[in-house]
Amino acid sequence: MAEPILSIRNVTRDFGEFRAVDDVSIDIQTGTITGLIGPNGAGKTTLFNVLTGMLPPTSGTVHLDGQDVTRFRPDALFAMGLGRTFQIPRPFAKMSVLENVMLAPLAQSGERLWGPFFQSGKMRDQEAAIRRRAMEVLDFVTLAPLADNAAGQISGGQMKLLELARILMGDPKLILLDEPAAGVNPTLTKTLIEKIEELNRDGKTFVIIEHDMDFVMQHCDPVIALAEGRKVFEGRAEEAQSNTVLLDAYLGA
Ligand code: ADP
Repeated sequence: MAEPILSIRNVTRDFGEFRAVDDVSIDIQTGTITGLIGPNGAGKTTLFNVLTGMLPPTSGTVHLDGQDVTRFRPDALFAMGLGRTFQIPRPFAKMSVLENVMLAPLAQSGERLWGPFFQSGKMRDQEAAIRRRAMEVLDFVTLAPLADNAAGQISGGQMKLLELARILMGDPKLILLDEPAAGVNPTLTKTLIEKIEELNRDGKTFVIIEHDMDFVMQHCDPVIALAEGRKVFEGRAEEAQSNTVLLDAYLGA
């Protein structure tokens, strides 16, 4: 089998005495859409925070494309092609949708992507190039008509598409989505799924935290479940539905 794009080995994360992620090992294969499920408090978001460099693991390692990236910072990981959205989108509300997308490299990458622009003395050209790229990305996620609207004025579902647009500015190869369908109306969910599948056909790999089991069953393969910080299931979506360990985890048995 090809080398996994992401290899998580024995990752543990403690908060004081509390172990939020407990000795988790997962390989994410290139080109897959992996569903990450589990009851509230299972450690899914904490694991995302470790994978994206927002929290260091207490122990364990993370390899991206074969390179040890454990304890790399979020900006370095974004520059290496790891993009991530949040459960609650947090755009700059008073800035326009377009400006939010244009600022994405700055927000997620610190100075690394922008540094060369500032040094080049060609900032105006660069700004035009970033604006063009941002419009392309907005067009892709169907938000181009809202480019000049204040980001705080668009709907929750549109904010999720905006988040996707922001990470696409980094041209990521691995995209982690935290509950993309939560609180999103069916029409926009459909758009979001179409875009995820289009990007996936284009070669991008996804890991998606999602509570909506219909979404997971229809669009994710494989499915990985966490409960109380531990990996309790890994397999195909249809096996997940009848897995007793998994059902127990959800029922708290
Ligand atoms: P999930 O995303 O699966 O709902 P989380 O990763 O958000 O789970 O949380 C896992 C557990 O870790 C929860 O019990 C939560 O209260 C705890 N936790 C998460 N972040 C922190 C933190 N910064 N400090 C202390 N406890 C935390």
